[in-house]
Amino acid sequence: MTTPFPHLLAPLDLGFTTLRNRVLMGSMHTGLEDRARDYPRLAAYFAERAEGGVGLMVTGGMAPNWRGWLAPFASSMVSGRQLPRHRLVTGAVHAAGGKIAMQILHAGRYGYHPFTVSSSDTKSPISPFKPRALGARGVERHIGSFVRATRLAREAGYDGVEIMGSEGYFINQFTAPHVNNRTDQWGGSAEKRYRIAEEIVQRCREAAGPDFIIIYRLSMLDLLPGGNQWPEIVAQAQAIERAGATIINTGIGWHEARIPTIATMVPRAAFSWVTRNLMGEVDLPLITSNRINTPEVAEEVLAQGDADMVSMARPLLADAEFVNKAAAGQSQRINTCIACNQACLDHTFKNKTASCLVNPRACHETELNYEPATQVRRIAVVGAGPAGLACATVAAGRGHEVTLFEQAADIGGQFNMARKIPGKHEFDETLRYFRGELEATGVRLKLGQMVGVGELDGFDEVVLATGVRPREPAIEGMDHPKTLGYIDVLGGHAAVGKRVAIIGAGGIGFDMVEFLSHSPNADDPARTPEAFAREWGIDMTLQARGGVDGVEAQPMSPARDICLLQRSETKPGKHLGKTTGWIHRLNLKRHGIRALNGVEYVKIDDAGLHIRHEGRDEILDVDNVVICAGQLENRDLADALEARGLTPHVIGGARVAGELDAKQAIRDGSELAARL
Ligand code: FAD
Ligand code: NAP
Ligand code: SF4
Repeated sequence: MTTPFPHLLAPLDLGFTTLRNRVLMGSMHTGLEDRARDYPRLAAYFAERAEGGVGLMVTGGMAPNWRGWLAPFASSMVSGRQLPRHRLVTGAVHAAGGKIAMQILHAGRYGYHPFTVSSSDTKSPISPFKPRALGARGVERHIGSFVRATRLAREAGYDGVEIMGSEGYFINQFTAPHVNNRTDQWGGSAEKRYRIAEEIVQRCREAAGPDFIIIYRLSMLDLLPGGNQWPEIVAQAQAIERAGATIINTGIGWHEARIPTIATMVPRAAFSWVTRNLMGEVDLPLITSNRINTPEVAEEVLAQGDADMVSMARPLLADAEFVNKAAAGQSQRINTCIACNQACLDHTFKNKTASCLVNPRACHETELNYEPATQVRRIAVVGAGPAGLACATVAAGRGHEVTLFEQAADIGGQFNMARKIPGKHEFDETLRYFRGELEATGVRLKLGQMVGVGELDGFDEVVLATGVRPREPAIEGMDHPKTLGYIDVLGGHAAVGKRVAIIGAGGIGFDMVEFLSHSPNADDPARTPEAFAREWGIDMTLQARGGVDGVEAQPMSPARDICLLQRSETKPGKHLGKTTGWIHRLNLKRHGIRALNGVEYVKIDDAGLHIRHEGRDEILDVDNVVICAGQLENRDLADALEARGLTPHVIGGARVAGELDAKQAIRDGSELAARL
């Protein structure tokens, strides 16, 4: 095959059916699964990815009974009455030439409701509800629910099911001693602990017949000291194979584990070595997962024999056309997932419909569409930050004549600062994507051009995406040489001393901590899985139980002595995303960084930063005070145009700076461009 991705694009023969390539779209809870009325949207979402060439897709988790709900009334597959809505999904996927399996997910003690059950009554640290320990008859009943869900899935037209046996959910709560302290036939030895998984797979196979895909998601690395040992995992995989599974998928880390597994700072394909260790121990095809976000990485993983197939979930939110673009030799045009979690997992945790920071159409396929323009317009877009880039490329893609003005020498706006933060190098991919789109859609790009009112004559529409300017708090000594703005620091315009106070503990304040606490070059974007494993105490020799060597995330010696400050009384970092905020807060501890809330800023002078904290005056003897105190709209041009009676469209940070992030900026730009 003349393609750079021969392994990725090779079909996979499962005996009774063939997958067209080695890409599995991993299960993601989008929020659309929970209500019957959202199934037409869910069907459109999956159909677009089927058209995009994915080999096999897996739905978000469906509980096999109400005790297994993730949250009250969350998605489930419990009765024939639910079949019509599921048939919308399977019908749309099949019409688009795809294949789809339904994930059966019993949350066990991770359920966010008072009816949870588990192998024991030990509460999880991530749910306030104590589960009830199931008796032997209860275990049988719950196995029966998995079988019923499988039978219903087949009736609904799914090509298979994925049985969720990892991430710390119900089955995992039996298979690992971390929760399972039973002494009956479902606990004690490893064989008895994983017997439930074996029984479920075997009985589901009997119910579904031989020509139905059964994927078992096996927790290969629990990342907890009470997890399984590697030989127990191998034995479990072999038992699952004997029980009749078709494919084994990789699960990494329980949700309660305090080791990042999918965030941006996790190196790409950082866990494919785990799956590689199981290759050859079973004959079933193995799928690997976690932080595989480009076809190049996926191809390398497969070519080096780490797995037979790769699971990518978020990358297919980011670009439904991922596989088709790879197959057409256009991988550079893929909109790459930057692993930020901001619009996907963070939305899910807030009970909001998932989407994607870089692709606001994700899960909104029926509402946000970029149809060809009925009347071609001349459009000026001012500002090539994320908002302007999204607006210009979508509008030009629709057929408009777009000119994009940027005062700086390059596109990107604040992304040029974000990409310098250790662990945020994936932002480069978004800029690479936009560069390609600018060219492909024919946007006229005018760099180094500071636009004033005069340059905007002759356009049918003017879009202002001029972004923000940093807020300058009214603190005495703001003009003192010790005082620096975040742009001075991240732009490399200022040398920063060894002792630093950071004013403002928002997104940029926390990023500044990362930036200043790392030694130059300490964070190599190509940091290896080995370096990552060492840093987080992961045992790559797989000798230790759960794959962790007992050392929690290792303390680090930061390059500077840093104090992070905020005025409000809330816990610093409280407003950071649910799925990544804990990593930032843990890093504060690891770096030994002092974080103070409830601070009053008095002044900055030669002695340092004077503050009032907990009723006492204190002088922080620092070399520099870095201001990260939020942002204000840059409305200079908007005000000037409006003063002339013109009505430009204002998007992104220029429209509203408070609460603005790249997700909002890109969505603003895309939505406006879809309307123009
Ligand atoms: P900007 O990115 O500010 O772009 C505005 C552009 O307009 C600039 O390029 C500017 O030069 C140009 N411009 C202004 N006036 C003119 C003019 N008159 N003529 C020509 N050009 C003009 N957000 C997230 O969601 N997640 C993150 O992890 C994240 N991390 C960040 C880390 C850092 C260090 C920083 C600084 C920001 C981060 N952000 C993050 C915020 C995110 O980058 C911004 O929300 C986003 O860039 C705003 O986009 P925008 O297009 O509205 O404005
Ligand atoms: P931010 O997150 O709103 O934080 C601003 C900080 O400044 C707050 O901690 C606030 O705390 C402080 N502050 C506000 N007014 C002040 C004043 N007058 N004097 C002193 N301190 C003041 O804004 P940001 O850090 O500038 O980030 C900008 C945007 O980029 C945000 O929307 C953010 O979400 C986004 N971003 C996101 C990430 C991410 O990883 N997701 C990373 C970077 C940036 P007090 O009021 O308590 O003092
Ligand atoms: Fe990836 Fe971020 Fe989009 Fe989620 S929101 S799919 S992590 S780019």
